[in-house]
Amino acid sequence: GSTIGILGGGQLGRMLSVAASRLGLKTHIYEPGAAPPAGHVAEKVYTAPYEDEAALRAFAEGVDVVTYEFENIPTSALDLLESLRPIHPGRRALAISQDRILEKSFLNEIGLATAPWAEVTDAASLEAAIARIGTPGILKTTRLGYDGKGQARIMAPADAPAALAAMGGATAVLEGFIDFSAEVSVIAARGADGAVSCYDPGENVHKNGILHTTTVPAKLSEALRTDAVLIAARILNALGYVGVMGVELFVTPGGLIVNEIAPRVHNSGHWTQAGCTVDQFEQHIRAVAGWPLGDGARYADVEMLNLIGEDVARVPEFAREGRTQIHLYGKAEAKPGRKMGHINRVL
Ligand code: ATP
Ligand code: MG
Ligand code: MG
Repeated sequence: GSTIGILGGGQLGRMLSVAASRLGLKTHIYEPGAAPPAGHVAEKVYTAPYEDEAALRAFAEGVDVVTYEFENIPTSALDLLESLRPIHPGRRALAISQDRILEKSFLNEIGLATAPWAEVTDAASLEAAIARIGTPGILKTTRLGYDGKGQARIMAPADAPAALAAMGGATAVLEGFIDFSAEVSVIAARGADGAVSCYDPGENVHKNGILHTTTVPAKLSEALRTDAVLIAARILNALGYVGVMGVELFVTPGGLIVNEIAPRVHNSGHWTQAGCTVDQFEQHIRAVAGWPLGDGARYADVEMLNLIGEDVARVPEFAREGRTQIHLYGKAEAKPGRKMGHINRVL
């Protein structure tokens, strides 16, 4: 198609729109919030809630294919959109990534390791989960969590009541705490023709629950590097996926453990803008528009640094670094925790 509809108008939608524009394609953005970063580059922006059926219909009828930059789109909106236009990646990938229990069940079913986990709905099920999995553990809401929100650590059984209270009555999952040596992620793409292309794994460091840096190459043995890519490919193929996905992995002495998957372009894949001929944004647009995938081979070592809140004040300093790419999202206010931009340093 020649016009791509993107649900969500944040920085990911913005960078997808830039990539589409380079390929001569147009984008229309659907975003409930005011002044979306993607609005500067998209041909058209629909500012309406996901409950607005008329707006959803107009949006869908104006595009050839629908994709998204975040996974928490209400089911009712998806049902309506799907009746009008194809949605890539598909509904199953979206449903799985929206619910940590569906996600872990799916991963385990296709033979992949996750943290030991148990569903928690009340004090009794939490007690039973702790008895089975032990402590330390992390209690997470099954839905709507991001950037470490909706999580509580349980260091000892005595922490259980406070952790349960922190879930605010929502269904949760208790995960055993993984003593990982590193966190890595694979950004992987699958085309409409079934071709799979994975980027080299990146090594991620988080700060206050938010991604701080991604560095490539990750410090991984060749065997684990291969494993990481095979895990991502297995997930994409099992879902008949079309588009780019982020797969977060823990590195442990016993091998790789899947933390979670994101059915979209991913913050830990921003390094591809400086390290690959075809970056994750172009790759995603190619996939959903039915183009062949591009070459994702890495030709540089890169460090991506997120600019969170007031970090953005350091841009003049970064601008004096010769081999540093600067990406700013055009957000007006630098609130604490808000992703304002990122830089890619070619090492
Ligand atoms: P995102 O913004 O990546 O979607 P999220 O809110 O969905 O984040 P997770 O990725 O589940 O949260 O967890 C955030 C971070 O907490 C992980 O990157 C990891 O550092 C740590 N973490 C999560 N689960 C575990 C676990 N079972 N064992 C050890 N550390 C964990
Ligand atoms: Mg997540
Ligand atoms: Mg995560």
